[in-house]
Amino acid sequence: MAPLIHVINHQKTKILATVGPASSSKEALLDLVQAGVNVFRLNFSHGAHSEHQKVIDNILEINEQYKVHVGILADLQGPKLRVGKMENNGLEISQGDILTFVNEECIGTKEKIYMSYERFASDVKVGEKVLVDDGKIVLEVISTNKINEVKLMVLFGSLLSSNKGVNLPDTVVSQPSLTEKDLEDLDYVLTQPVNWIALSFVREARDVRDLQKRIKAKKHIAKVVAKIEKPEAITNIKEIIKATDAIMIARGDLGVEIPIEKLPALQKMIIAKCIQKAKPVIVATQMMESMITNPSPTRAEVTDVANAVLDGTDAVMLSGETAVGNHPGLVVEAMRRIIGEAEAHFYLQGKRPAPDPDSDTFLSDTLCIHAPQMAESVNAKAILGLTVNGYTAFKMSAYRPKPDIHIFSDKPYMLNTLSLVWGVTCHLYTKFTTTDETIEDVNQILVDEGIVQTGDIVINTGSMPLHKRFRTNMLKITIIE
Ligand code: PGA
Ligand code: MN
Repeated sequence: MAPLIHVINHQKTKILATVGPASSSKEALLDLVQAGVNVFRLNFSHGAHSEHQKVIDNILEINEQYKVHVGILADLQGPKLRVGKMENNGLEISQGDILTFVNEECIGTKEKIYMSYERFASDVKVGEKVLVDDGKIVLEVISTNKINEVKLMVLFGSLLSSNKGVNLPDTVVSQPSLTEKDLEDLDYVLTQPVNWIALSFVREARDVRDLQKRIKAKKHIAKVVAKIEKPEAITNIKEIIKATDAIMIARGDLGVEIPIEKLPALQKMIIAKCIQKAKPVIVATQMMESMITNPSPTRAEVTDVANAVLDGTDAVMLSGETAVGNHPGLVVEAMRRIIGEAEAHFYLQGKRPAPDPDSDTFLSDTLCIHAPQMAESVNAKAILGLTVNGYTAFKMSAYRPKPDIHIFSDKPYMLNTLSLVWGVTCHLYTKFTTTDETIEDVNQILVDEGIVQTGDIVINTGSMPLHKRFRTNMLKITIIE
């Protein structure tokens, strides 16, 4: 089953696919891996733990059976707000109507509509906007009794359907980022070898640190993805990037919470900042939306995916397209082709990341940046690194070098984690005897896989003495014999 590896590691920009009814069987997951998926997202907004468990088992089996390193990302719902069920499943509304939101469950009528956020009445202020159904309905707060009842005027919209999402772009939401449901989901997730845990509606760095503490307390080593989908997160972006392990530009909710026309520039700004700090970044939502029903993408979607690649994102994400769509395999294949074409035109715009002399990892940061730089200047075929905790891979990737980065580790879990990272191809290597022997071995692995040939130049990095497992401190130019 060796050819699979080449399919997966073909490209530098990674594909993250959401699992749902259209893709949860082992056969369907395997199809998607073969089409080019690097990481699967389990969306905890839907599905019972038992269903997620089956998917996790299937992915782990595929990794084992086909010797691949597909990662798993568990996405916690966070404080996603929703209206309840409506009379006749949808309420006709029109401009100027006054609606009343309450925090007790009921069937929605113009007089009384359930909204899932308990502190809504105490958090909102008169004059603030409330958006429902991706902004298709715009309401304005007229009055609040500060306890359990808010009156809103319809500014825009015609049909209020059951269970639609609610966004409060103007409101300072006092609820913590981890809801009760999230904590229950987290308890379950931390019993599983998931690689990444995504936190929705992050507002400040403290939200990220809180989750990291909870992960550590359970002695888990999953890394955190902060989902940027609130205006506060944009304000605090620098601190959030510093605190988190990775970022998701969650364009779905972000595009409702801020003026939607600001998305393209924000996407570029966030990606550039993440590259500077060597934090992986994911562009998410509606990338290939029309393929939920259609067998091919629109011009706009092709251009959107290509532009994300040109911006330098680590990964592009599929949501409904692979979770509930009609053509999960076709979507991934189409995305892979778009990525392949776009990458031929990719170069990092703006400055390459530079090591920070004040950092206590300055020396090894310097090496991790010079290795790819040297690889480019000697026209090397590949950069090879060894890692225990992924550090070397993150740092080298941030340089966005032309040659591929091949990372070797004896920890399959870590390799699965690194599947999300730009330009990184993962290999299991368990020997780690002497430095000389290890370099020979890892080079030979690339020869055996047909990645490099006699006469090719590669850059080897590692840590000497090997058994001490220091951070990367050694750099060598090798001509393959
Ligand atoms: P969601 O996050 O799909 O969990 O809402 C992504 C987004 O909002 O874009
Ligand atoms: Mn969202």
